[in-house]
Amino acid sequence: MTQIKTYNMKFRSHYPPLSYKGIHSGQWYVICSSDGDGWVKVDRRYSWTELEKNWDRITYSKQNKPTKTKRKEWKVKGSKGNVYKIVNDKGFWSCSCPAYGFGRGRDCKHIKQIKYEKTNT
Ligand SMILES: [Zn+2]
Repeated sequence: MTQIKTYNMKFRSHYPPLSYKGIHSGQWYVICSSDGDGWVKVDRRYSWTELEKNWDRITYSKQNKPTKTKRKEWKVKGSKGNVYKIVNDKGFWSCSCPAYGFGRGRDCKHIKQIKYEKTNT
């Protein structure tokens, strides 16, 4: 649905509105996002300065902030029955098994296991 707007209009749009002329009709439009005004019929070309001034910007509340990565711990049973503690502290992985100690920071099989489970669940 299109509508002709007159002076002092506001273009409700999520992204910056765009001045556009129909190739066949010669009709000028201001293109807004579909969750805003959509395609608005206008009488002339609008410069970016005008568009920016009349841009009624749609902003979405940013409540879905990613939670800060907290320290996470897992316990994995080793092949010999020992239980090892794997820790992810702000993206840094460590494990209490001897292999991790020898690996000088490299992922041991327990860390790999947890990472694999994380990405496949
Ligand atoms: Zn380990």
